[in-house]
Amino acid sequence: MKNIDTYDFSGKKAIVRVDFNVPLDDSFNITDDTRIRAAIPTLKKVLAGGGSLILMSHLGRPKGPADKFSLKHILPRVSELLGVSVQFAPDCQQADAQAAALRPGEVLMLENLRFYAEEEGKPRGLAEDASEEEKKAAKAVVKESQKAFVAKLASYADCYINDAFGTAHRAHASTALIAKYFPEDKMFGYLMEGEISAIEKVLNNPEHPTTAILGGAKVSSKIGILENLIDRVDNIIIGGGMVYTFVKAQGGSVGNSLCEDDQIDTAKAILEKAAAKGVGLYFGDEVIVADAFSNDAATKIVAKDAIPDGWMGMDAAPSSVETFRKVIMSSRTILWNGPLGVFEMEAFAGATRAMASMLAEATANGAFTLVGGGDSVAAVNKMGYADKVSYVSTGGGAMLEFLEGKELPGIKAIRE
Ligand code: AMP
Repeated sequence: MKNIDTYDFSGKKAIVRVDFNVPLDDSFNITDDTRIRAAIPTLKKVLAGGGSLILMSHLGRPKGPADKFSLKHILPRVSELLGVSVQFAPDCQQADAQAAALRPGEVLMLENLRFYAEEEGKPRGLAEDASEEEKKAAKAVVKESQKAFVAKLASYADCYINDAFGTAHRAHASTALIAKYFPEDKMFGYLMEGEISAIEKVLNNPEHPTTAILGGAKVSSKIGILENLIDRVDNIIIGGGMVYTFVKAQGGSVGNSLCEDDQIDTAKAILEKAAAKGVGLYFGDEVIVADAFSNDAATKIVAKDAIPDGWMGMDAAPSSVETFRKVIMSSRTILWNGPLGVFEMEAFAGATRAMASMLAEATANGAFTLVGGGDSVAAVNKMGYADKVSYVSTGGGAMLEFLEGKELPGIKAIRE
């Protein structure tokens, strides 16, 4: 496997899969350019090494060509951050001449790959009542035309770099299939390298004690991670809406709190497995409850397993945060995914905010801290702690699947 640090880019054209799927407002202003900035070190490395760049990305979920999803809207920002005027290919399948004309130091960005169904390899425009046969036939057609689509992208370049961690869990044309055209000339970009090494450090090579903090709304969306981590960590702190399914599984009253009745057996199994393995499971004893799902609701603090009817658990109480604090401060490796309460509402953001601050403190004390998942990353950013933890993951779904122990197609395609 080649390495971006030692590869000779001189006179070469590098096609780079980036994740420039940034949020835009109604006037096409970028509201958060984190993902573009995250790819800049890789892009600058190629240019500094005497290479040229062909950038490819998706933006949003178009069903075909649509101005709203055009990557031309982000061209000025990419040019500004790179310090190079970026050229644009308005059709990613018709860029032969522009790619061929690229000179060292020049950059060409291809239009949104997902204007073509071939990028994802999924048929479009199927009637809702299409039969299984018809679906299968349509899929076969798109898979067939996908071959030419990938070959065309590959034909533009001498080497391939994948730096799009956000889509590493997808086996798409640009994230995985294209790699086979560059058996000796494929590599990860710096962002991918950073993400992979941070997550693999937590999963495979952690300094103990190791603690995972899992929050968010539902047990069902975190069960894969819980099951994978329970074999690897010393402690698990559970927060957010997930708590109440566990409370009910233990016979407590959850009032009107979020609770997944169909996950109660799963919760019981996790409780048993943790006990058998000696993994510490921490929920905190008290929660802040509200009489409505609203920032202005009446609130009070109650025992987590004695929530009155008409009230719902919205955040961990300060006494629970104190319990979490002791666990965090004695840990050497910490992973955080998912908020501990309904943090979008100021009244219920306390525990999530406290957790961000505790992770910053633990990092300053020498612990390795990894934060991932859209909401916990948003919380850490909003609270100004992003540069006070060891690593903030850019990939939501990709990180979740990685933590579940799955092999990500984007990583496999480069390594194999
Ligand atoms: P997830 O996408 O699964 O990480 O869930 C994030 C969402 O969980 C956020 O929108 C939070 O508002 C929500 N959440 C956290 N705690 C609770 C709770 N106690 N009740 C309902 N929703 C919650």
